[in-house]
Amino acid sequence: MNVSALREWFPILKQQVNGYPLTYLDSAASAQKPVQVIEALKRFYEWDNANVHRGVHTLGSRATEAYEGARANVARFVNAASEAEIVFTRGTTSSINLVATGYARTMCREGDEIVLTPMEHHANLIPWQQAAKATGAILNYIPLQEDGTLSVEDVARTVTSRTKIVAVSHISNVLGAVNPVKRIAEIAHRCGAKLLVDGAQAVAHGKVDVQELDCDFYAFSGHKMCGPTGIGVLYGKRALLSAMEPVEFGGEMIGHVDLREATWKEAPWKFEAGTPIIAGAVGLGAAIDVLEQIGMDAIEKHDLELTAYAVARMKRIEGLTIYGPTEGRIGMVTFNLDGIHPHDLATALDAYGVAVRAGHHCCQPLMRWLGAQATARASFFAYNTEEEVDRLAEGLYRAKAYFAD
Ligand code: PMP
Repeated sequence: MNVSALREWFPILKQQVNGYPLTYLDSAASAQKPVQVIEALKRFYEWDNANVHRGVHTLGSRATEAYEGARANVARFVNAASEAEIVFTRGTTSSINLVATGYARTMCREGDEIVLTPMEHHANLIPWQQAAKATGAILNYIPLQEDGTLSVEDVARTVTSRTKIVAVSHISNVLGAVNPVKRIAEIAHRCGAKLLVDGAQAVAHGKVDVQELDCDFYAFSGHKMCGPTGIGVLYGKRALLSAMEPVEFGGEMIGHVDLREATWKEAPWKFEAGTPIIAGAVGLGAAIDVLEQIGMDAIEKHDLELTAYAVARMKRIEGLTIYGPTEGRIGMVTFNLDGIHPHDLATALDAYGVAVRAGHHCCQPLMRWLGAQATARASFFAYNTEEEVDRLAEGLYRAKAYFAD
């Protein structure tokens, strides 16, 4: 992969920040946008913008084609069996909320179990807490191994015949660990449970094949895969989406409306009430084209190698603790430097042009498990280089020297 050629597509990366070249190491929070996505949005608004599914005029047809074309692109990208299995949402958070409300609340009874892990992002935790409160279901947790990974044996011990739903992240947004979701799907299905995968951190780092994983639901966000903010996806197996209740009601999602009753369209449209996120979907479709042009296998190889390089580089820094597995992680390194609060560390790095995230990363239970109030996190995408990791290391040495004085 030619990273310097690739960086040409990302105009934002060319700037200086605080007098230094921008070193953007916060793609796990939101990835940068290539010119192709920016151009697709511009072209849509300049030429095709209209509402979808109802215009008989030319622009209405073009907008509908662009929107439904993006759905087809997403379906192909994750290898869904049909476009009808792709629901456009606002992002991972709203995708998970849709399942926790539209599916879990109708399927779960008192004493049923919902199985999660302690590493989940709040987006894959709180919706289930709320569903459990509403139905009387019980939340059970697959314990973490010492390095934060999951063991298949623990999954098999935690998922039981009372389990209705298992919800796990594909890749943790703190630990960078890749969870064995295919094996988890097998165990869940053996027990009669459904599996939802939070793919927010996975879709941009390698090929995702929902049929191969055999997950029932897969949730992700456009903005973490070079698409615009405000657009996300819920993949769901067709039969499940058909059985699932909409949670938002209004225009666009209806079949027939009377004064006292109404019927819904088929999935996925019954879940997309109101004017949908048309330009967002068009931008996401363009982002997928870019990712495929780079090649998902090439991206995965690059991101694995760069993360391993960062781990090796950072391990040499005295007083630095890395959280999570040191092998097989992808896309991020989460860490603390002795005696420096991660917010101070992130501020010091920013003064050197290096953008990292600091805080609890929307994973407060995991922070408690790690014994840390907060951590810093450097995260990588295909456009990051070893030189940038070296700059991060240099920034960390500078911060150490500064705070030691
Ligand atoms: N799950 C994981 C693992 C994440 O990293 C994130 C984003 N930080 C989310 C869910 C939520 O994504 P969004 O804010 O785009 O809905």
